[in-house]
Amino acid sequence: MSDCIFCKIVAGEIPSRKVYEDEDILAFHDINPVAPVHFLIIPKKHIPTLADAAPEDIPVLGKMMQMAGTLAKQAGCNDGFRTVINTGRVGCQEVYHLHIHILGGDKPLGMMLPR
Ligand code: 5GP
Ligand code: ZN
Repeated sequence: MSDCIFCKIVAGEIPSRKVYEDEDILAFHDINPVAPVHFLIIPKKHIPTLADAAPEDIPVLGKMMQMAGTLAKQAGCNDGFRTVINTGRVGCQEVYHLHIHILGGDKPLGMMLPR
């Protein structure tokens, strides 16, 4: 989608600090981290929100979930981490390209949430 920030990151038109990339997904550090570890995992396909995910998206959603643990551990989150998916207006979603926030660090994160 041409006016989507995350599609532009996928296309390399906007730079990002990549954590992982394959043919289906991309992971990159959040530009405004709210925890010592804060990166995003996105599908390369433009899926606006979790509520828009279709049955055909199940494989990529599964890969995003499986890679969450793998990449979090690679980032040093050996004692746990938080995953957040904000969906739509009520979920305070800011960028309308589906993404999983991965949040971690040394200390328990309490109730802090990415807006
Ligand atoms: P949301 O509120 O939609 O769940 O979160 C969107 C996230 O994307 C925010 O944490 C925000 O800091 C991050 N973000 C927005 N624009 C950019 C960008 O251009 N580059 C990167 N790396 N992160 C971004
Ligand atoms: Zn997009």
